[in-house]
Amino acid sequence: MRKTIIAGNWKMYKTIGEAIEIANGLKREFFQLDTQVIEVVLCPAFTALSEVSEVLVGSEISLGAQDVYWQEEGAFTGEVSCKMLKDAGCSYVIIGHSERRQYFGETNDSVNKKIKTALSQGLTPILCIGETLAQRESGNTFSVLEDHLSHGLAGFSAEDAERIVIAYEPVWAIGTGKTATPAQAQEAHAYIRGFLAKLYSEESAQRMRIQYGGSVKPDNTSDLMKQPDIDGALVGGASLSVESFAAIVKKALEVKK
Ligand code: PEP
Repeated sequence: MRKTIIAGNWKMYKTIGEAIEIANGLKREFFQLDTQVIEVVLCPAFTALSEVSEVLVGSEISLGAQDVYWQEEGAFTGEVSCKMLKDAGCSYVIIGHSERRQYFGETNDSVNKKIKTALSQGLTPILCIGETLAQRESGNTFSVLEDHLSHGLAGFSAEDAERIVIAYEPVWAIGTGKTATPAQAQEAHAYIRGFLAKLYSEESAQRMRIQYGGSVKPDNTSDLMKQPDIDGALVGGASLSVESFAAIVKKALEVKK
């Protein structure tokens, strides 16, 4: 059975003090998390990682970053390395989020390099893939998914790939309040799993976890999580409050346990 993974992407929100407050709230909510079934990851901004990591000590919640650079160290002003993220307490890192592809020049090639470094340093990458509205409307959803997967995962063995979490995030559903219907999401997830089976093997594809992301809220979580190929969620806006994120985790747990 694939363990469900719910991650909160806090994007460029929360000061250190605010981040500590929400992490404390979530720690209280999840003090008895059924970790056989579900994993919860918080991804604050870089500035809050260390402090949130301290709050999470003694809890079942993991810490992730929202991006990383692929070089180990050096004169790369403004960048952060895997070693720094691990030092700050991270075990996960989001790579290739559509906002990074859209606004910061992230490409399949940089995504591939970042995943490679993250894996070699023992961080679990959450690889984000997904089509824009124009790509969906022109019938190119599946070819975009293939492009993101085949280039993003180029050169990795099945063993490497199985350590990566895939997040299917249709760009048109991120931060827009428009969620893919459970059927649309399942169709894309099944396609992704089928493509992973072609890249690796059916067994590997069955072991790999594929999260859905795009306006996940407490009231749409259950229907999304009931889909056989949806193994969790990457949550943006609704992860910014203890109440809504805790409700999402609880609903996912109810469906998946
Ligand atoms: C995200 O940031 O990955 C995301 C899915 O955001 P939202 O839930 O706000 O759509």
